[in-house]
Amino acid sequence: MTKLLVANWKMNKNEIEVKDFFTDFLPKYSHKRSAWIAPQAIHFSLVHQLGQTKGVKAGLQNCSENLSGAFTGEISPRTFKEMGGDFVILGHSERRQLFQETSKLLNAKVKTALKEGLKVIYCVGETLPEREAMQTLSIVGDQIHQGLNDMTEASAENLIVAYEPVWAIGTGKTATPAQAQEVHAFIRGELKKKFPAFGEKVQLLYGGSEKPDNVEELLGQKDIDGGLVGGASLKAQDFLALCGDK
Ligand code: PEP
Repeated sequence: MTKLLVANWKMNKNEIEVKDFFTDFLPKYSHKRSAWIAPQAIHFSLVHQLGQTKGVKAGLQNCSENLSGAFTGEISPRTFKEMGGDFVILGHSERRQLFQETSKLLNAKVKTALKEGLKVIYCVGETLPEREAMQTLSIVGDQIHQGLNDMTEASAENLIVAYEPVWAIGTGKTATPAQAQEVHAFIRGELKKKFPAFGEKVQLLYGGSEKPDNVEELLGQKDIDGGLVGGASLKAQDFLALCGDK
């Protein structure tokens, strides 16, 4: 399976910086690995337009669990899909921690976005105190079972899961390949219980201070099918290296 690298640009880059990124990125991008980018929502059309010349998919970092109506400031997954949107990241730890998104709410978002035909990258991961208390697998297991509750195997077809230990996000501390592989294997096992055939092939991404100098070892693990990348995706040269194009 081709590895997938997803850039989460968070609330970074102005229009000129977006254009500069593509000027540097596109000529060297060779599709060794698939590259997807989630810019600020306001830059979706720009990224979609620039990326489609080389098949770089554009996505959102969040969306509503509703399709339309009186929800000031929200983005409808249906409208996004109609505009050519490909994917949405849901349950990022910043959404869980800063915006109080619960796995129950995320379950509604995941199901709505999948129903609208979007690919969903559902994020899970433990905090440092949870890891130190040896709760990693129970926390991640709860996030999987609550966030993906009440779904059929067919409805999960466009689901991707990202394991992002919260203590590794933006901190420079990366999970060791063995730590990441252990949790990825656990997640695949839990998904196989819910979706026996799909769980076998579901793409599992690792996220947390992934960089050119640690990506190969992480992607070399059996159950790591790609990466969800924050900081290192902002520079074209680094994201190219993550995509296997040095
Ligand atoms: C992220 O925010 O999803 C992330 C993985 O960030 P970073 O790569 O900067 O740790």
